[in-house]
Formats: sequence, structure tokens, C-alpha cells
Amino acid sequence: MRVRFAPSPTGYLHIGGLRTALYNWLLARRHGGVFILRIEDTDRTRFVEDAEADILSSLDWAGLTPDEGPGFGGQVGPYRQSERSERYAEVARQLLEAGKAYVAFDLAEDIEAMRERHRSEDNPNPRYDFLTRGEMANSLTLDPMEVVRRIAEGEEHVIRLKVEPGQSVSFEDQIRGMVTFGSAEVDDQVLIKSDGLPTYHLANIVDDHDMGITHVIRGEEWLPSTPKHVLLYQAMGWDVPRMAHLPLILSPTGGKLSKRKAEEQGIPVSVSQYVQAGYEPEALVNFLALLGWNPGTDQEVFTLDELTSAFSLDRVGQSGVQFDMQKLAWFNGQWLRSKTDAELAGRLASTLNERYPNAGQAAFERAFALMKERITFAHEVLQADWLFVHPTQWDDEAIAKRWKGDGAELLLAAAEALESLSSWTGTEIHDALTAFAASRDLGLGRIMFPLRMALTGQGGGPDLMALMAHYGQQDTLARLREGAAIIPARITV
Ligand code: GLU
Repeated sequence: MRVRFAPSPTGYLHIGGLRTALYNWLLARRHGGVFILRIEDTDRTRFVEDAEADILSSLDWAGLTPDEGPGFGGQVGPYRQSERSERYAEVARQLLEAGKAYVAFDLAEDIEAMRERHRSEDNPNPRYDFLTRGEMANSLTLDPMEVVRRIAEGEEHVIRLKVEPGQSVSFEDQIRGMVTFGSAEVDDQVLIKSDGLPTYHLANIVDDHDMGITHVIRGEEWLPSTPKHVLLYQAMGWDVPRMAHLPLILSPTGGKLSKRKAEEQGIPVSVSQYVQAGYEPEALVNFLALLGWNPGTDQEVFTLDELTSAFSLDRVGQSGVQFDMQKLAWFNGQWLRSKTDAELAGRLASTLNERYPNAGQAAFERAFALMKERITFAHEVLQADWLFVHPTQWDDEAIAKRWKGDGAELLLAAAEALESLSSWTGTEIHDALTAFAASRDLGLGRIMFPLRMALTGQGGGPDLMALMAHYGQQDTLARLREGAAIIPARITV
């Protein structure tokens, strides 16, 4: 099995592109095959300078390393189409010599005029094909000497495939089943453009052939191109690789997830935006794996290794799949929790050290232990600065709602009860506070709110006993006493 991911560097790697890369990579891994990266950069008008670098770094971030590709070695390179022009010209020449392609000189306005002539209700979009090619300026209609002269004089021209009508062409899509079409539906597509560069169609099939690609796995948007590709393979007498077209990714409001729709929905489209937003690579990969593929079990969280052994095209559906940011956030939380506190603290070490120079690595790790279950992104720890310094922000709404007249007195008395503790662990703190609450004939819950407020400034947060253990005895007492002074003053009514 030899599969390829063939992005065009016309922009940053798209999440749909990453899913295509992932499915190809998984199949190659699963079947001991080869995963090839090919850069399809023949469209110079849409070329984006740093797109290739972005594609490479995004694949690397996701853990999908190519076996062959630009910079990865391999025997059938170069893997950038801009470096393979000679080969496409050679194939075009062969097709011309075999009478399967022809040269055409028509300008855009000539083609538009032809369309105008033929346009009707039944034929809203006339094609350049077997019906119309006879009225155009090409090597099928012009005298051969005239053709030679025009080319010698540098007249702009393209090379088109001569598609013969009356053939029924089929291929078996691994996901959609048998697809059959009549060749009369296919236009005489351009193979070589007037700038001498190949079109996507020609370059794509030449490379898939020359690179020994066995399975073409790509997005559904390429399905309409496949008949053209099949005809081209046939014209060259080459075998058609197996084809699989992945279901469309849909917007939560329905319809294809276009750039515009994604923007409206607040859905980032490029992988690098997810990197910047702090997503775990495993979470995005896991989410994308299930965006079109169904494992057939209840399992949702998959490592790349687990995906490799479970994945197959049989369980990829045909119908479009909705992009769900909430589900992705859920995956992110799951994957975040699989990381060690040390790893997460290490990742944010420079920011944490800069903000809290006196806290130290151990405190940063404890912060993740306290918070990991409650957050979706590692960087959310940075928003909880009460983990490291006394509260600077107060949830006044919670205070107004839940603070009682005895709050300050309770805080001072609780501080006194805790001051006598000679050992400072979560259990001891818990026991001391339970006893304190009982001595006042109050439930533990009743004293938790003022404590939490004094300790964090917030109405909700991690387990309080663990939090106090994290602060240490001195700091806890200081916060409780400070809270007793500050919080009542915040009630404005
Ligand atoms: N260059 C095409 C793209 O940008 C490749 C389509 C294919 O895989 O054939 O998606």
C-alpha cells in the first residue's frame, strides 16, 4: 500500500486536510504501507509562500510524519510538482502523439462566445468537448502547418485531452461503491496551461502513477474530478489506483463548512490556529479520526496506536459530518488529563516563572493537580492567579448572593482553629474544620463558602482541603484573615 497526502500550498493546512492526511497515514501504518507527502504547487497564481512550511509543521505537530516527501527522502521524487514539469510535458507529448490530446489556441473570449452560442435551457453550461471542439481554433480544425506556425510564433496555447463520447466509465469507490458515468459528460479538459505548467488533473495522475500510489484517499470535493482522472489513466494505458472519497465536513448549521461559515461559527479552519489556541495534538487527531469514521464500539478516546489498529475505510461513512467544537473541547479535556502535572507545568514554565517568580516548580505542578479535572486547556491555569497570589479579583455577584452576616467572624474563628494544627495535610485540615463546624452547630457546607471566597475570591473551584494544603498553613491563615477584612467591605447594599 502506497498512499499520499497531496496538499496545494495555497494556504495554511486546513483541518479537513489534516483529516485526509490522518486517514492516509493510519491506513499506511495499519497495512505496513508508505505514506507520501506530495506538494501540488502548479497553480502559481494561488501560491502562498509559507504554506508548505505550515503544512510540514502542522503534520509534525499532529505526529503524522511522512515516509517520503520533500525533505523526507524517497526514491520517486522530487515530491514537489513545480520540480517535475519536464515529466508532465513528456506525458502531454505522448498523448498528443497518440492522438489522445490536441493543441488549442482559443482565447477566453472565444470560449465564452462559444458558450453563448450554445447556451439554452437544456444546456445552461456548454462545454469545450466533442460537440463544440469542431468550431474552435485547435489542432483538430486547423491545418497542421498553421498549428506549427502559430506555436513557432509564440501564440498562447493549451493542450486538451480529446475525450471520445459514447464510453461508459466506472470505478469502485471504497466508500461510495460503484460510480459510473458517461464520457459525454466530461469536457476536453486542459492538461497543460498556457504558462506551460500542468493542470491539477494531469499532474495528479502522472504523479500518482509514477509514485506507485495504490490508494487515492481524498475529500469528497474531488469526486467530480475523478471521471477526468479515470479517462486520463485510460488514455495513458495505466491502471487506476483504488479510490476513496471522504465525507464532507459540515458546518453545525448545515451545509459545507466553508471558510465563511466557519468564521461565523467561531470555528478556526487552519491547524495552526488550533496549535496557537493551545489544543492538545492528540485531542484534535482523536476528534478528526471520528469525524467521518465510526469505530463500531463505544470507545471515544483513541491514541494514534489504537486508531492504527482500529481504523478501516469500511467504517467511513458517505454522508457529511458536522463539526462540533464542544465535542472537540471535551476531547481536549480528556487528553489534558492524561498528561502528567510535571509535563503541563513544564510547558507553561516560562510564563509561570515570570509571573510568580517565588512560587517554584512544585507549586506549579500542584496547581495542575488541583485544576486538571476542571479545565479544558492547560493555559486556563494562568487565569486562576489566586493559585499563586492572594486574590486580586472578587466574584461580587457570588458574594452578594451567598455571603452571610457571620462570614467575617467565621473566617477569623476558622483561622484560629486551623492555627493550632501541627501537621498540615488535607485530612487534618478536613478533620479540624469538621470539628470547628460541629462546635458551632453548623454543617461543613455552611463554612465552605466564606472559606472559598477568602481563599480564591471565586464562588467555585477545586477541592478546598487540597487547596489549603497547597497554600500551606501560614498562607492559608493569612488569606482567611485578609478575607475577613476585605469581603464584607465589598457588599455595597
Ligand atoms: N492538491 C489537491 C488538494 O489540494 C489534491 C487532491 C487529491 O488528493 O487528489 O487537495
